[in-house]
Amino acid sequence: MILDVKEAMRLVAKHSPLLEAELEPLGPRTLGRALGGALVAGQPSPRWDVSAMDGYAVRSGDFPAAYAQALPLHGTALAGARPLALHDRGAVCIMTGAVIPTGADAVVPKEFARSSQDAVQIDPAAEVAKHDHIRFAGEEVQVGLTLAEAGTVLSSRWIGFLSGLGFSKVPVVRRPKVALLISGDELRRPGTGLQPGQIHDSNGPMLQAALAEEGIACRARRLRDSAPAVESALRRALEGADLVLLSGGVSVGDADHSREAFRKCGVETLFWGVAQKPGKPLFFGSRGGTLVFGLPGNPAAAWVCFHQYVGRTLRIMQGLPELPRRQALALKPPRRDETKTLFLKARLSGSEVRLLDGQQSHMLRSLAEANALAMVAPEERGSLLEVFPL
Ligand code: AMP
Ligand code: MG
Repeated sequence: MILDVKEAMRLVAKHSPLLEAELEPLGPRTLGRALGGALVAGQPSPRWDVSAMDGYAVRSGDFPAAYAQALPLHGTALAGARPLALHDRGAVCIMTGAVIPTGADAVVPKEFARSSQDAVQIDPAAEVAKHDHIRFAGEEVQVGLTLAEAGTVLSSRWIGFLSGLGFSKVPVVRRPKVALLISGDELRRPGTGLQPGQIHDSNGPMLQAALAEEGIACRARRLRDSAPAVESALRRALEGADLVLLSGGVSVGDADHSREAFRKCGVETLFWGVAQKPGKPLFFGSRGGTLVFGLPGNPAAAWVCFHQYVGRTLRIMQGLPELPRRQALALKPPRRDETKTLFLKARLSGSEVRLLDGQQSHMLRSLAEANALAMVAPEERGSLLEVFPL
């Protein structure tokens, strides 16, 4: 039975599990990943009372008298150095980030000071007041504060913030293990010569790159169009993978062995066939904890199915948000299809979208040039289209 797109997407979401969390070093490996649990501050920020300026740490009680008579200097406080003390009338030369000397309670910025070897003269324009230019311990983050909820996607900004609070490892949702199989006797590796009828493999490099865009490293394995070859490769791929992608051979041609292999390997069919163009023969199934997609061989169809279905699964598994989508006005309304959803390669510019020529499922040129994928459901009317920016 052929499903409509909404139902197919609902089934994909329903069968996609959120993977467990693992501890990873905070840094590039955690970039773009979802936190597997909430994080609570174990130390305050700032950690100490420190200077916000390069200047002089002073005792505000010495003012205004000190404007008239230079203050003796009692050393230099550098960032990272042990705290100094200032118990008598005087000043300590201080750098941004250095701990405020005990006894001092204000910082005068350098531009209001003239210093000699052992004394500093403060300009009355400094208007010294208690607590001036001091960053106080815990003013941004107090111990026990919830810093980030589970599901927070780690950006470089989060990584900086959490590193500053002393985190070196954080729990993040595990990346899925993916096996990528590319079938087709006609396929040759790009860079090798072609015999009549042969073509260069687009889907291998394309799907590998699409997986990399989702943060997943995976090698493509190329298969012959023979039932035993597809079956044995599938059997091996199913061991240990969270997700198996098999490109090609999923339709009803004489050389299409994917579905028979799914059956022989015990993959339960969740759906086969979606009322969409391109990508009608899309297969989705599962065996144990492993999900399986059979992607159409036609490259544009394979990519659209990856973008709309495989990507959805990968984001759910990783606890990541759905693809952003928006509405845009079609410059020329598309011809609709009463029976299926169309995914159309398009160029988005501001709030307007232009549908490209060359929409057939074997055509990658328009897909490469597109910066958006427009979705036109059978029931939709008017020129406002649902669009996925690429
Ligand atoms: P299939 O789904 O195997 O029937 O393939 C449908 C069409 O897509 C055929 O014209 C294939 O030659 C083509 N095709 C299949 N796999 C690939 C691939 N990896 N790269 C480029 N074209 C492919
Ligand atoms: Mg084929």
